[in-house]
Amino acid sequence: MQGLMQDWPLTVDRILSHAAVWHADREVVTRSVEGPIVRTSWGRIHNRAKKVSNALRALGVAPGDRVATLAWNSGRHIEVWYGIMGIGAVCHTLNPRLFPDQLCYIINHAQDRIIFTDTTFLPTLLENRARMESVEHIIVLADADVVARIAAETGAKGLLSSESLIEAQSADCVWGDFPETQACGLCYTSGTTGNPKGVLYSHRSNFLHTLLTLQSDVMGLSVNDTVLAVVPMFHANAWGLTFSCPAVGARLIMPGQKMDGPSIFELLETEKVTMSAAVPTVWQMLLAHLKATGERPSTLKRVVIGGSAVPEAIVRTFHDDYGVQVIQAWGMTETSPLGTLSTPTPEIKSLPFEDQVPFLLKQGRPPVGVELDLVDDDGASVARDGKAFGRLKVRGLAIVGSYFRGDGGEILDERGFFDTGDVATIDPAGYMQITDRVKDVIKSGGEWISSIEIENLAASHPKALMAAVIGVPHPKWDERPLLLVKLKDGETAQASEILDYLDGKIARWWMPDEVLFVDEIPLGATGKIDKKVIRARYQDHVLPTARRESA
Ligand code: AMP
Repeated sequence: MQGLMQDWPLTVDRILSHAAVWHADREVVTRSVEGPIVRTSWGRIHNRAKKVSNALRALGVAPGDRVATLAWNSGRHIEVWYGIMGIGAVCHTLNPRLFPDQLCYIINHAQDRIIFTDTTFLPTLLENRARMESVEHIIVLADADVVARIAAETGAKGLLSSESLIEAQSADCVWGDFPETQACGLCYTSGTTGNPKGVLYSHRSNFLHTLLTLQSDVMGLSVNDTVLAVVPMFHANAWGLTFSCPAVGARLIMPGQKMDGPSIFELLETEKVTMSAAVPTVWQMLLAHLKATGERPSTLKRVVIGGSAVPEAIVRTFHDDYGVQVIQAWGMTETSPLGTLSTPTPEIKSLPFEDQVPFLLKQGRPPVGVELDLVDDDGASVARDGKAFGRLKVRGLAIVGSYFRGDGGEILDERGFFDTGDVATIDPAGYMQITDRVKDVIKSGGEWISSIEIENLAASHPKALMAAVIGVPHPKWDERPLLLVKLKDGETAQASEILDYLDGKIARWWMPDEVLFVDEIPLGATGKIDKKVIRARYQDHVLPTARRESA
């Protein structure tokens, strides 16, 4: 027997339409690419997004067509995002930090017909224009005079101005009217192995993910929040904030391209931000700025941090010095992205803060709609004792089922779980902790060493800014850990200081065989440590212990 309730397709245009009726005047504030702060509202964004839809239709865009954006977080970017999605076309967010070769590969693979771009990225696009076979139009997110000037300076032909296109259209446009399973967004994984693969979100999965993130133990957003979305829209949908903020009518602040400490601090204060989300490096820059200037955030209450493991110093400094709550989140492009959060349960909350910290440093527990499984290489369940490592698998309402155009073949196991490629533990309190990527785990004497755990500890040494650990071949143990440390500006240190600091905090046999001080730790396009590059750099490196062993 079927239920007898209304059929109300879960399409994301309804989120913005809701905001336009019930939160029309709530502000969306952007630090524009040109510099000045620009203010708009959910009502205006809705109106202009409809004009974008009409402009796209006039250019021949049909449901299912891919329309790309290469843009920083801004009100304009949100208008384009909803303008594309509202008519059933697919919004493909391009990551500007990718190399031109990867960018061209992705654009061609997705068959993008149109690219909306900030002026910042125009040189890259124009230089590589000939290699973007499917692209018919480049639309610059700028006023007509700006685009005319750029065209005159560069000799580029056929550039369109988003403002002229929008101005010429009416805001009368019907959105939706397609099934909730219609594709809505496309985002390529960082592609640490092989070519990047496309994750094709549906309206339904994005809508459900929005509801999931709004749970109070997840992002817990409210109409009373002012949210600074530092996490880019091109990195897994800004963790859903461009859906969840209009869904509750939160005030949204978009930082544009400036994510340095002083710029972020300025927005936090002038816009009275209550909540923000970003990767750890952004918070490190902010905290360094606060320390250097003695300034304090006055309205910020909580920050969600994810994308890579949160260093202990961030959790403590925010809590001890500024009274800001840190929630760690784990997720991936394939999980829309939120998968787990370190939100304290009542049992954890009742502990002194000191005893809460180990749990806050874990990636946490899943909300309803996300199922986790932890298995060994043979698929057998691994004990949830906080010690045993296993492969982390996920299943849920907004988790990838297969990659765009069938790349990678069948990616779910027989029970429908997706292998995240992460290695993790789950403790008796249900807190999951990522210990490594499968390919980064260090196999020493048949046992696994967690590179992430050593990195986090080493990076919390007072002189260290960042640390990376890789496994280096060893004649006796297969692999042994090599620790690279980038020191804070002006610091000097001996390897023994770092090793002494680690002593007692990790198992003896996890101790790195060598510590090297480096000027740079390479980061990938989503700001994560690029172990592939480090491994290539040190592929012929001989550890002192290996030299002794083979002597
Ligand atoms: P991406 O798809 O680029 O967002 O990358 C997803 C990967 O980032 C995950 O599979 C994890 O390896 C890593 N990751 C994300 N969040 C965290 C976190 N809080 N701690 C450790 N690793 C994380």
